[in-house]
Amino acid sequence: DAYRIDRDFYLPAKSGARIYGAQLYWYAVRGTVRLSFRGRQIILTKDVSEALVDGRKIKLDKAMIVRAGKAFIPIGFFTTKAFVRLAGVDSKFDPKTRLLLVDHRSSVGPVRWFTYPGHTRIVLELDRKLRFQTRKRGRSGLDVTIPNGTIDWSERVDVGDGVLEFFHLTQEKKQARLTLKMQSGADGYKLLELKKPRRIVIDVARSKDRILAAKTRRVGYESPPSPKQTWREARRKKKLAKKAAKKAAKKKRARIKAAIATKEVTHPPAVRAPQRAGRIRIMVDPGHGGKDGGAVGRRGTLEKDINLAASRELVALLRQEDVFDVRLTRDSDTFIKLKQRSALANNFNADLFVSIHCNAADSRALSGFEVYFLSERASDPEAERLAEFENSVLAMEGEDVVLDEAAELLYALARTEYINDAAEMAGLMTRSLSKRVDLRNRGVKQAAFYVLRGANQPAVLVEMAFLSNGRDEAKLQSKKYRRKLVEGMYAGILDFARRKDWLEGKR
Ligand SMILES: [Zn+2]
Repeated sequence: DAYRIDRDFYLPAKSGARIYGAQLYWYAVRGTVRLSFRGRQIILTKDVSEALVDGRKIKLDKAMIVRAGKAFIPIGFFTTKAFVRLAGVDSKFDPKTRLLLVDHRSSVGPVRWFTYPGHTRIVLELDRKLRFQTRKRGRSGLDVTIPNGTIDWSERVDVGDGVLEFFHLTQEKKQARLTLKMQSGADGYKLLELKKPRRIVIDVARSKDRILAAKTRRVGYESPPSPKQTWREARRKKKLAKKAAKKAAKKKRARIKAAIATKEVTHPPAVRAPQRAGRIRIMVDPGHGGKDGGAVGRRGTLEKDINLAASRELVALLRQEDVFDVRLTRDSDTFIKLKQRSALANNFNADLFVSIHCNAADSRALSGFEVYFLSERASDPEAERLAEFENSVLAMEGEDVVLDEAAELLYALARTEYINDAAEMAGLMTRSLSKRVDLRNRGVKQAAFYVLRGANQPAVLVEMAFLSNGRDEAKLQSKKYRRKLVEGMYAGILDFARRKDWLEGKR
């Protein structure tokens, strides 16, 4: 926390050392502070508007001061070029919120993986160009080391798809290391370095006889089909299973319909069009837009703008892999009716619908993220108020939203299969978000969001953070921070796709 002393902001030297990972030496008699970063020194002296950074003099706007026997360093010092270069940590200070955003240069990670019929792909994200080395380890191991790379968190995933046993991302002092352990089905690898965003892609090939064996086993053909056919076959089987489930659900609906048949149903549940085999279709929906600005931040940030930025970032990430076919409900600042948003997803035959929003509350203290799925009854009064707010645009649309009771019930029933999936995805998403951001995890919630109601696919609504909270607002505005939120949503989608066997790989 920053202190305001005589209209200027200071950070206690002790906090500064802790935040930036330095050793602190305080020479009270001389009034000198020494910050040591692995042998490199910064020396500040009381009432002297100069600092010694690695022996070089740097001018300061304000001098370090001492109050009650404690040293306070002017906060501007931590954002000077000299300090950033030495500490290797970028920071920004916002005097309005008194928030010091510290970027620890998490330049390596996260890792993503995909099992394809012919190969297993590992993607390692880098946030800038970094040198790296590869080294074989024994017959089946591969190390990729990135000197000066730092990771956010260590990650080990047991893939076990016949090609890759596991991957492990670790930090070793000043270098990051990604270790791969192949399985007997692996047949060499290919390493690519790609830009925008910068990443290392390692494709481990599945040996030919393994592919054939896997195919004949899975499909039961006498002659091996082409990889494309295998993929289609898997999708076809899934579709058949889905059809059977749908048939059962339809019967159930018919029974209930008969029970409430006295009432005329004006809105029969839509029947989902048969899905084409192939890629996983995802509709990303940036909330609000055009004349509907959504929530407004304390400093005037418009929800619609943040939603669009985050949605575009999520789409860019998804489009890195060919297996995803992704669309946006809007890619500009335009007004779209709520009903139209789910209709767009349905026309696209989307497998998933993700609506992206920012929260707002009367209390400025509320903060954090939450993920919603549809329910006619809200999980708590706050959720109900939020749904009211998000649905309030209906007034702008001039729609009559009152459905009769029977229709409501049928709607709810028709959506049951999707709602179970949506609940699962909401859970996976909150889990992956909480791993990546330091925002409060407000958990999975339910409410009657109109935008989710029309969706013929699992649909969730993400409230990334509170615009009504100064700190949350600053985070939402920061592209770097948003990136973490987007990574979290993306990982949730991946986890869900794996659960559904859409990616042909299992955890
Ligand atoms: Zn919203």
